[in-house]
Amino acid sequence: MSTVAHGRFAPSPTGAPHFGTLLGALASYLHARATGAKWLVRIEDLDQVRLVEGAADEMLRTLEAFGMTWDGQVMYQSERISAYKEILETLTVQGHVYPCGCTRRDFIDGKYGPEGPVYPGTCRSGISEDKPVRSYRLKVEDRDICFADLVQGRICQNLSRDIGDFIVKRADGFFAYQLAVVVDDAYQGITQVVRGADLLGSTQRQIHLQQLLGYPTPEYLHIPVVLGTDGKKLSKSEDAPAIDIRQPEILLYQALSALGHQPPDSLSRDDLLQWAIKDWQPANILKVTSLSYETIQNQD
Ligand code: GLU
Repeated sequence: MSTVAHGRFAPSPTGAPHFGTLLGALASYLHARATGAKWLVRIEDLDQVRLVEGAADEMLRTLEAFGMTWDGQVMYQSERISAYKEILETLTVQGHVYPCGCTRRDFIDGKYGPEGPVYPGTCRSGISEDKPVRSYRLKVEDRDICFADLVQGRICQNLSRDIGDFIVKRADGFFAYQLAVVVDDAYQGITQVVRGADLLGSTQRQIHLQQLLGYPTPEYLHIPVVLGTDGKKLSKSEDAPAIDIRQPEILLYQALSALGHQPPDSLSRDDLLQWAIKDWQPANILKVTSLSYETIQNQD
């Protein structure tokens, strides 16, 4: 692991890039460049069911069109399966991971946490004989895990109370996002994670995994997620316009304003980025977990 600071942008290629994607990319890019860190791009293409053909390339073309140049080679999670397998085996041998035969339906009537039904640990002490193995779960502990987010402040979660033992390998055979993201962030020497606030509640699961695996915990900065008029995240919303890469300046002005930054008028794409790198102030970002796209568009 290197001592050089690294940031990353880690999109899932599940559709055309939209304004929310741009905001995430820009915030992670600016934070990395402003702090002298390398900026890496990782395509999170593990979930082959949600994968959209051509979306990863379109993502990279969009970053290029907006002048956000990444360092090194783009990493693809689909090429990292053997690394996840190895870590899963280690965690299993150490007794942290166990096979589970439950479906969500088995505990849907139980206790609810912020992200849905809390897994009650049914298979923790062994899977009942009439149940086939479906997924693999990681044991969590009854303790508060806290971190200081650069935008959202100090956030704590008790995984045992709020989430329960969580899935690290899914019933459909794919490795879970939570495992892959932790293994890859450590592998790539990521020291700063800048991403949408929809992942705030995943952070404690990731910190728990980092601690079990002896990995360092990066710095976290969660920016507001952009919502469409239907209240859904833009990636899932009907009213997310595709990004027009021919006029990057217009969207860059909008994105910077959404991040609380007011550049001088009429700058070119590259001058805008240079200005923003120099002026980058995470403290200017609103301490909220979502913003409406309509409000952002009507700001200028
Ligand atoms: N691939 C995830 C997404 O597009 C982001 C993962 C992360 O930044 O930790 O939602």
